[in-house]
Amino acid sequence: MTSGRAPARPAGVRSHNLALLLWSVVQEPSSRADLASRTGLTKAAVSGMVDDLVERQLLDEDPPAVTGRGRPSRLLRLHPNAPTAVGLELNVDYVAAVRTTLDGHELAAHRAEIDSRALPWRELTRHLVAAWRAVVRPSGAPVLGSGIAVPGVVDHAGVVLRATNVPALTGANVAAAVATGLRVSRRSLVVDNEANLAALAERHAPMAERDFVYVSGEVGVGAGLVIGGALFRGAGGMAGELGHVSIESKGRPCGCGGQGCVEQYAGQDALLRAAGVTSVDALVAGLRDGRRRYVRAVAEAGSALGVGLAGLLNVIDVPTVVLGGLYAQVFEHLAPAVRDELDRRVLAADVRRPTVRAAHTGPEAAVRGAAAVVVQRALADGTTLFS
Ligand SMILES: [Zn+2]
Repeated sequence: MTSGRAPARPAGVRSHNLALLLWSVVQEPSSRADLASRTGLTKAAVSGMVDDLVERQLLDEDPPAVTGRGRPSRLLRLHPNAPTAVGLELNVDYVAAVRTTLDGHELAAHRAEIDSRALPWRELTRHLVAAWRAVVRPSGAPVLGSGIAVPGVVDHAGVVLRATNVPALTGANVAAAVATGLRVSRRSLVVDNEANLAALAERHAPMAERDFVYVSGEVGVGAGLVIGGALFRGAGGMAGELGHVSIESKGRPCGCGGQGCVEQYAGQDALLRAAGVTSVDALVAGLRDGRRRYVRAVAEAGSALGVGLAGLLNVIDVPTVVLGGLYAQVFEHLAPAVRDELDRRVLAADVRRPTVRAAHTGPEAAVRGAAAVVVQRALADGTTLFS
C-alpha cells in the first residue's frame, strides 16, 4: 500500500488485498465466506480475487461435496505448486538451508559442518550457494525468495557491518554475492542477524509471548528483542549485541576490542574450554552423567549470562527470556544460574519475577526464521507476488 494521504493506486490496492486473502489462508484453510467476514471485503470482491488466486495456482479449493443439504462450505488451501521460501544460515561452524511452504511446512533441509572462521568470503559464498541448491529442485514449485541468517551485525541494506567470529563476513554484501552465485534477483534475498531471525521464528511458534528476549547461544551470543510482537532492530539494525555487553570492566579481552564481554564467559568456546571438552555433544553427554566439572562450567556460564541479561532487562523491561541454540540444549543446568542473577539484579523481579524458558523452536530456529521473513515480506503488501 502507498503511505501518506495520497489515495492508493487501484493496482496497489488489489495486490494488497490478494496478499491479505492469501495470508489469511496461510494462517488456516478457509472458505470464501470466512475470508469475507475476516477481511471485511464484500463476498463478490473476495470471490473475484479467490478465482484469480486459484488461477495463479496459489490456492486450491476443495471439490464440491456430493451429498448433504444446503451449500457446504468448500475450504481454500495452499496450492501444491504455490511458491516456496528458502532459508539459509551461515554460522561459525556450519551452513544450513531449509525450504518451506508459505505456511511454514518443511519440504527439504540441509546442514553441513564447515569452519567459517578459516574460510575466505568467496568460499563462504560457495557454501551458501551449494546449501541453497541442496534444498531446491529445478522441477519443484517456484522459489519466492530466500532469507539468509548470518552471525553478525547487518545494516538495513543487508551489508554485514561486523562479524566478530567470522572475520571474512565483515563488510560483505551477502545478498549481492549470493544473488550472483544463484543467478537470481538481488531483491529476492533478505539478510539479517541470526538471533533476530531466530527470535522471529520463536515469535511465530504457538503460544509465543508478545514481549521477550530471545538469546541465541552459539560461539557468539546474540539477542533478538521482540517488543509488542515485533522485532526491535535499533536505529541501524545493530540492537541485541548481548554477547558484547561488558560484565567486567578489566575482564577477558574480546574479539570486538572490548574487555569482559558476556561472550568470553558464556559463549560456546568459553563454556567448552571451562568444561574441558571439545564438542557440544560431549558436553551434553557429560551433563547427562552428572559430571561435576561440566555442571559447574555450565552454571558459571549461566551466571555470566544472567548478569548481562539483568542489565538488559532493567533497561527494556521485558518479562521473558527465551534461551535458544546451545543454551536450549543445556537449559536444565544453565537456567537456575540465569534465574538467580535475574532475581537478584532485575529491579522489577520483586513484583514480577522474570520468566526464563527454553526456546520452542529447535537449533534450526534461525534458518526457519530466514524462510519465514521472506513469506512475511511477500505477504505484507503483495507487490513481489502480484505486480
Ligand atoms: Zn566483545
